[in-house]
Amino acid sequence: RDEIVLVGRSNVGKSTLMRELTGHDKFTTGKKPGVTRKPNHFDWSSEGFMFTDLPGFGFMSGVNADTREAIKTDIVRYIEENADDILAAVLVVDGKSVIDIIDRHTTDESIPHDVEMFFFLDELDVPTVVAVNKMDKVDDRDERLNDLCDRLGLFPPWKQWRNVIAPITAKRGDISALEEALRSHLHEQARDDLFTFL
Ligand code: GDP
Repeated sequence: RDEIVLVGRSNVGKSTLMRELTGHDKFTTGKKPGVTRKPNHFDWSSEGFMFTDLPGFGFMSGVNADTREAIKTDIVRYIEENADDILAAVLVVDGKSVIDIIDRHTTDESIPHDVEMFFFLDELDVPTVVAVNKMDKVDDRDERLNDLCDRLGLFPPWKQWRNVIAPITAKRGDISALEEALRSHLHEQARDDLFTFL
């Protein structure tokens, strides 16, 4: 296992985060959404792992419903096919809008993409960290993060879930909560692999 995948709606700051994580500068942020259809691989040099940036899902202006659906299918297929190689997933959300978006899209028949993705990764036993980005725009920090726990079926308070819920501000390079959460999963995984090996 040597791969960490990043998933999230478009415009949550995934490219910005990717640049912070990898130190690579060749990401063009704010580009036309939906252009990135193929997974992009980047090294996390200090840990010897690879980050895979998957296309953004959900609503994008100028992208029709069929294309959006095809993008989501591609993402799901990629994760299913590579689940054995995936150490962890980072589900990036926009802390400013995530609760409103989830609540607006929750009906009797359907659940929102972010929540669906979280449960999907859990079903595949892929350890997942939710990177709650743009925290610089959130005033009621604890309340917001507790609400998010509630929507994801995690019992609040969020501080009990520091290996799952990682508040960050990617734009300012404030991503230590995510790095710590990822490291905890990597070490856990290394231990499991060692036990399997022994
Ligand atoms: P992507 O579509 O998910 O790859 O999102 P981008 O990385 O292109 O970012 C989308 C927009 O969000 C850009 O205008 C970024 O400058 C902005 N953004 C990214 N991270 C942050 C953050 O931590 N705080 C704030 N306020 N804005 C951010």
